[in-house]
Amino acid sequence: MALSLYNTLTRRKELFEPFDRTKIGMYVCGPTVYDLAHIGNARPIVVFDVLYRLLRRIYGEGAVTYVRNITDVDDKINAAAKISGEPIASITALTTEAFHADIAELNALPPDVEPRATEHIAEMIEMIEALITSEHAYAADGHVLFHVPSFPEYGKLSHRDRDEMISGARIEVAPYKRDPADFVLWKPSDLSLPGWNSPWGRGRPGWHIECSAMSRKHLGTTIDIHGGGSDLIFPHHENEVAQSECSCPGHPFARYWMHNGFLSVNGEKMSKSLGNFITIRQALGRAPGEVLRLMMLSTHYRHPLNWTESGLKQAQTRLDRLYRLLQKSGARVPDGNAVGLDDGFVGALQDDLNTPLALAELERQADELMSADARGREQKRVRLLASAGILGILQQDPEAWFKGGETAEDVSHIEAKIERRLEARQAKDFALADNIRESLAENGIILEDRPDGTTDWRRTV
Ligand code: AMP
Ligand code: ZN
Repeated sequence: MALSLYNTLTRRKELFEPFDRTKIGMYVCGPTVYDLAHIGNARPIVVFDVLYRLLRRIYGEGAVTYVRNITDVDDKINAAAKISGEPIASITALTTEAFHADIAELNALPPDVEPRATEHIAEMIEMIEALITSEHAYAADGHVLFHVPSFPEYGKLSHRDRDEMISGARIEVAPYKRDPADFVLWKPSDLSLPGWNSPWGRGRPGWHIECSAMSRKHLGTTIDIHGGGSDLIFPHHENEVAQSECSCPGHPFARYWMHNGFLSVNGEKMSKSLGNFITIRQALGRAPGEVLRLMMLSTHYRHPLNWTESGLKQAQTRLDRLYRLLQKSGARVPDGNAVGLDDGFVGALQDDLNTPLALAELERQADELMSADARGREQKRVRLLASAGILGILQQDPEAWFKGGETAEDVSHIEAKIERRLEARQAKDFALADNIRESLAENGIILEDRPDGTTDWRRTV
């Protein structure tokens, strides 16, 4: 079975055929770094990380180039600096560092290239100049604007008509605009704002041109896959198409456009502007990153995902069970790349990244592992781990998993209590033994007595 992906451009699932299977380019819009990322922002990180892992598995690690940018020049950053009084450079540096630390906890592989907008101003200016030369853009009042009517295909990605686009973009009607739909490529900066010298005076880029310039620089004129959250389809991605295709006619910008659905809380989409967000950091205080990751993957990426405590608990239970089966099945065999994958599992992922089904297939593999004989077990275990590796879960030693999150001090405290309980049991003081078990349970520590007389423990959410 071959990989098929839903393409926002054609609005159907299509067979994925890379332009060159030895050089696959994938671009995903990264964060604007002015504040901690929330768990909605984590969704595209996790979804496209699974796609990246799958592509590397199918085409080879060296064949895929994943580019995810950092937007470090933006009016939201300028506004945050004004409010806090912090210098812009320190806000963007600290936020970028926090972002990296947070998503590492979610087991996201680093992209191959992580370009920063401020390091690509020359490429943006060059692209804007090409757009002016070909009369797709014009300078007016220190601004440069893309002239939307110059590109008749405008709207082909978001499938919107002109009126919808104008109202949807909530574009300000400025006197220097030739058409209300025209959007900014470059804008003037006074000395209080970040700015670069350009043919149009000191200024800064608009957000959309940043991604067009960075993806061309690192992936060439046509990329295979472009991704992001569904809120970016319009205007951001529509504008990227216009800029990229008009500055290099005859070259389609992206061949497959993929968009994840939104994460919501209590039925409302999670966003910074609504103020209903949970940062990745806060979420990590409630559950390990791997649990958050499994929770995200238990809904198909195109569907809305509702964040609930019970969803989190369910994810923890599923992951605990998988680690428990792994623990019972014997020693860890690390190298999963050498084996073929399970057909059911890979078939689910190849069907437009059906991760909920892939997780169910993974659980089936884990159950089969338990019922296999000693000889079959080894191979099934390697296969299971290889599959789980594509989802980015189950790669820790089970012992470490169940004891994860505890400090050495916690562990010795818990183990001392377990020891006291054992002594109480040996002295037939079952009331005391039960008391100790209950007090540990109140603190989220579950005990499991083993046939050999020892006691195992693990933490629940
Ligand atoms: P931003 O920093 O707001 O530009 O967002 C970074 C990425 O997170 C973009 O791909 C957005 O589409 C995505 N995103 C933002 N909020 C959510 C959400 N609630 N659910 C899913 N994706 C989101
Ligand atoms: Zn972008």
